[in-house]
Amino acid sequence: NAAPVGHNVIPIVNKLQDIFARLGSASTIELPQVAVVGSQSSGKSSVLEALVGRDFLPRGSDICTRRPLVLQLIQIKRKPDGTDEEYGEFLHVPGKRFYDFNEIRREIQAETDREAGGNKGVSDKQIRLKIFSPNVLDITLVDLPGITKVPVGDQPSDIEALIRTMIMSYIKLPSCLILAVTPANSDLANSDALQIAGNADPDGYRTIGVITKLDIMDRGTDACHFLLGKVIPLRLGYVGVVNRSQEDILLNRTIKDALVAEEKFFRSHPVYNELADRCGVPQLAKKLNQILIKHIKTVLPGLKSHISATLISVAKEHASYGEITESKAGMGALLLNLLSKYSEAFSLTIEGKYEEMSTS
Ligand code: GDP
Ligand code: MG
Repeated sequence: NAAPVGHNVIPIVNKLQDIFARLGSASTIELPQVAVVGSQSSGKSSVLEALVGRDFLPRGSDICTRRPLVLQLIQIKRKPDGTDEEYGEFLHVPGKRFYDFNEIRREIQAETDREAGGNKGVSDKQIRLKIFSPNVLDITLVDLPGITKVPVGDQPSDIEALIRTMIMSYIKLPSCLILAVTPANSDLANSDALQIAGNADPDGYRTIGVITKLDIMDRGTDACHFLLGKVIPLRLGYVGVVNRSQEDILLNRTIKDALVAEEKFFRSHPVYNELADRCGVPQLAKKLNQILIKHIKTVLPGLKSHISATLISVAKEHASYGEITESKAGMGALLLNLLSKYSEAFSLTIEGKYEEMSTS
């Protein structure tokens, strides 16, 4: 069980993202986060939930995810007496801790309806949710609406283009890791997920292939060649998973049971048993964490110089306003100063981590 190496670093990244979100420019700064892409009902929300280890996302055979959900996982310390608590906090409900994860799901649905209406409408306005838990890796995940072709309900006739543009606005950022989710019971070679990921990341430096629904492939077929990268090669490779079926959801089957069932499925399967390092949600979590650490290290210098450059230009603008300290520019300069301090602390931590890693 690999310890989450990124552990001290990511909370700082998340703080930065919060500040930028409040400045109304969440996607202008290129911070590492992980987004799921794929066609509708391919299992994107299920994969994210499994990575978090809790039930809280709207899932189902219909369109459920209708606004981008930015999910910051924050690891908190385990209590010595074993009475761990996990809770969520929404940016749009300041000060309230949600201990009941069903309530979190209901709030996501309610907040989706507030912005996108109750009839299958879609909006690009983010919902931001933090989950505090001793059981998570520290990462930011983005759940996105799936690619859909035929407009239903309140969706406009150009729904496909709309959703593709929304997805691209996240995954085109060079700092975004892409989980390209393709269900194994569809034509894998024609995957929407791999196609759109390929547009955003043509060299495949930041795309991980995730094959879902391995349990419901046609009898006598398996995704072995795909998982091995023999059909569409991906630099970062593929991981196959088995999430809960719609029936499991209706029967309220827990995520814990689902993970046990998944492990059993892979272990007893003649083909997947041989591909243990490419199968299962725990493998996906492990892979993600390793990639994230490497990734943060490569994007950090760019992030720092971007912040300094912005700081200089805002400072100049500020100076040009003279002594009005209450001005927007003054506040901006103050914020950016803060950011730059974070960024310094951030880089120190990373360097520390890397020494640790290279000496072990
Ligand atoms: P999304 O639209 O891509 O977010 O997909 P969801 O996570 O909402 O899942 C869509 C439907 O597929 C739900 O009914 C899930 O229960 C089902 N599903 C997802 N993954 C799997 C899987 O690995 N196996 C099976 N049998 N069903 C799955
Ligand atoms: Mg979804």
